[in-house]
Amino acid sequence: MTRSDSRPGSDAADGTAHGDWTAPGDPGDPDDLASGGDDAYAVPSDAPVVECPRCGRPFARERHRDLHVGVDHADLDADERAAYEAASEDERAELRRFRIVSLGLLVALYFGFLFLYAVVG
Ligand SMILES: [Zn+2]
Repeated sequence: MTRSDSRPGSDAADGTAHGDWTAPGDPGDPDDLASGGDDAYAVPSDAPVVECPRCGRPFARERHRDLHVGVDHADLDADERAAYEAASEDERAELRRFRIVSLGLLVALYFGFLFLYAVVG
């Protein structure tokens, strides 16, 4: 099966189009990821697609494609390297923010229950 055969336009006719991008098999399967994944992806026909210039794998966002190119492909040119580093820095900044917000919520929850116990209990 070629990649174009798995496009959602062909799936939509029989009502099997998925609301989200899915790859055949278990997407969390480490063996599948280690081998570069399967070639077939179900992509909604109206969804904006950013494809990898090397393997054609579809992504929803340019940043995801840039991260994929930097991680899964070798011999990056200067533009690809710069895009990968920018995407990687954005990813690290988001993770840092998520950790800070999560810690703040956990502390607020802890002291909230502590004060509630002190007042009510
Ligand atoms: Zn690729």
